[in-house]
Amino acid sequence: MRLSELGEFGLIEKIRRSFSVKSPRAPLSIGDDAAALAVSPSSMLLATTDMLVEGVHFDLSFTDFFSLGWKSAAVNLSDIAAMGGIPRFCLTALAIPQGIGSEQIADFYKGFGAVLREHAVLLVGGDTCSSGKGFIITVTALGETEKALLLRRSGARPGDRIFVTGTLGDSAAGLELLRNAEWGMRNKKSEIRNPKSAIGRLAERHLRPVPRVAEGLKIARSGCATSMIDVSDGLTLDLSHLCDESGAGAQIFSGKIPLSNALRGSAGALTGPVLDYALAGGEDYELLFTAPPRKLKCLRGLKIQATEIGIVTKARGIALVGADGKKKPLTPQGYDHFRRR
Ligand code: ADP
Ligand code: MG
Repeated sequence: MRLSELGEFGLIEKIRRSFSVKSPRAPLSIGDDAAALAVSPSSMLLATTDMLVEGVHFDLSFTDFFSLGWKSAAVNLSDIAAMGGIPRFCLTALAIPQGIGSEQIADFYKGFGAVLREHAVLLVGGDTCSSGKGFIITVTALGETEKALLLRRSGARPGDRIFVTGTLGDSAAGLELLRNAEWGMRNKKSEIRNPKSAIGRLAERHLRPVPRVAEGLKIARSGCATSMIDVSDGLTLDLSHLCDESGAGAQIFSGKIPLSNALRGSAGALTGPVLDYALAGGEDYELLFTAPPRKLKCLRGLKIQATEIGIVTKARGIALVGADGKKKPLTPQGYDHFRRR
C-alpha cells in the first residue's frame, strides 16, 4: 500500500500493532506524546523524540539558525509537558549538509541552549554526521513524572469539558506570512521581522514556540484533568488523536476557540478565514486537555491561561458547533506527512 493512502498515522498504527508492548515496565509506549517507563515504584521516565527536516519542517530562506535551535528544543519539551512531566535531559543528533558552517551551528546551539536554560534541561549526548541533502535535526527529550500524576491521551470521558491553553492558529498564520514575505508577496520582510507588529508576533510564534511546561505541571499536579495532548498537528487532528485513544468523540464551539489579537488583526493579510488557521493549522504547541465539570473550580484556581472550547461526547467523531447552534462534522485536518496536499 502506498504511504499516501495509509497516511502517517496509519503507518504509526501498523508499527504499534507489530510491536505492542505488554510490560509493567512500559505502561505507556507507542501512541502518546511520550513513552512512560517505570524506573521506580513511584516515578516514571518520560521519553520522546522528534525530527526537524529541512524542506519539510523548516525553510532556511526565512528561518534563522537561533530560531531553529530554539524550536528543535521547544517541540520536544512540549511532548514532555503534554504528559504533565518535568523535562530533565536531552540528546541532539544532527545531519549537516555542505554549505552550513560552524558559526551557523553555533547559532543553532545558542537558540537550543536558551530553551534548555529556561527549563533547567541538560544536553547529555547526541550524534553528528554529514547529510547528502538537507539539514536534519533529531532531538530526544527525557523527563520524569510521578506515576500517579501521569496524564495520558486516553483518559477523556463523555461529559468532560475540553480546554486549550493560550491561543490557536498563530503559528500557521505566521508560516504563511513568512512565506509570502520571502516571495515578495503582500508583506514586507522588515515588517515581519518586527516583533511589535501583528504579523511579526505571528512569525515569532511560528519560529520560536514556547513549550507549556509550567502549565502542564500545574494541570497534572492539580489532579483536575483526565487527559492531555499538545497541539502540534492542528486542533482537530490532535483532538481526534485524544478522542480516538479515549474511545470518545467531541463537540467544539467555534465562538469559543481562543484567537490572539495578532491573528484577528492580521486577517486582511491572510488568504483564509482566521478560524481555519486555529482549527487545522499546526505547531501552536499549546496544551489541549479535558476535565470533568466538577473540577472546573479547581481548574480556575490554577490561574493558567486556558479556555473551555467544547465537550467530550459518547458519539464518535468531532463536530463544530457554530454561532447558530448548528453542528457540522469536522474531518480531522492538520499535518500528515504522507497525505497528498
Ligand atoms: P507527537 O506529535 O506528539 O510528537 P507523533 O504523532 O509524532 O506524536 O507520534 C505518535 C506516537 O507514535 C508517539 O508515541 C511516537 O513515539 C510514536 N511513533 C511515531 N513514529 C514512530 C516510529 N517510526 N516508530 C515507533 N513509534 C513511533
Ligand atoms: Mg505531542
